[in-house]
Amino acid sequence: MDRWQFAPAEELRRAFILDDSRLGPIHWYHRGKSAAVVMSVDDVFPGKSHSPYEAGGDLEKGALGRLLWLLRRHPQLRLTLFVTPDWRRVSAVPDRLWRHVPWLRDRLHLARMLPKGAMDLRNHPGFVAFLNAMPRTEIALHGLSHINVGPSVSAEFQSRDRQACTRMLAEALRIFDEAGLHHVRGLQPPGWSCSPALQQACRDLGIKWITSARDVQTPVSRDAKTAMSGLRGVSMIFPERIAEYLVHVSTNFQATSAPERAFDILDAGGVLSIKAHITKNVPGHTHLDGVDDLYMNYLDRLFVDIEERYGDTIHWTTLGSLACSLSGATSLALAGQEHTQTVANRAA
Ligand SMILES: [Zn+2]
Repeated sequence: MDRWQFAPAEELRRAFILDDSRLGPIHWYHRGKSAAVVMSVDDVFPGKSHSPYEAGGDLEKGALGRLLWLLRRHPQLRLTLFVTPDWRRVSAVPDRLWRHVPWLRDRLHLARMLPKGAMDLRNHPGFVAFLNAMPRTEIALHGLSHINVGPSVSAEFQSRDRQACTRMLAEALRIFDEAGLHHVRGLQPPGWSCSPALQQACRDLGIKWITSARDVQTPVSRDAKTAMSGLRGVSMIFPERIAEYLVHVSTNFQATSAPERAFDILDAGGVLSIKAHITKNVPGHTHLDGVDDLYMNYLDRLFVDIEERYGDTIHWTTLGSLACSLSGATSLALAGQEHTQTVANRAA
């Protein structure tokens, strides 16, 4: 992991906090439910098996077909697909010769790239129509092109100022709109990178929720803080308001996680937040949580177990719906209010 991913969350937040009285973990989600399940899939774009790699472009014959199978098996399951409006990255690691040249290597793209526009959603209406027709599925932003200069080849917002981030996000939303892709205003930044400038850009564009931190290692507890990829020091199992206008939800489960981790999160009243990547193998990298038959079968079995153990006490939802339902909640559990279920109450 790169060092930039590990800046303390407090330091990141201090730069733009206006009123910190409402910041912090939110221990409340939905009346009558004790915990929640969300699942998101990164790196979705129209790449086909005959292009650099399949990333949804083969529609029902590819990875999206596997997700549809999971949705059919579990009618309560909802998905968030993080889609990149004009995907350009081919290699996941630096593979161009000039990666060895000092000065140049910090200023040029070090990974092979597609030409601008090749994967622009406006040029792929069949793909857009397929996404729009997927049941119980919301679409949110995964950057603009998923490329960056220098050694972090994906983290395109990483060293940009607020204006540049705002410009890129506005362009990304414009492509979604012009392509006719239905979407919600949420963001998973490529490379997990979530700078204060990017968070301020979210405010500029009315983006109300973000997912940056991924921690699939820290033991589960109500107080667990993230310490792996992306933002550090935010709640690992509860949504957290990281700015007055911005809710964050951490990823805490993937293909390599044991089922007990999922049960521990649900027993603690948290949000089980499952991550997948649409492509298993890309040049230079294998996603351990790639959407293949093995991972889908694992999740199928896990969801059966969750249904049997917890019945209808689980709120199966999307990141966008979850974040919107919390937009009026304070950082403190809403204990004492009539008819509201608080995790604090349930865990007591
Ligand atoms: Zn990505």
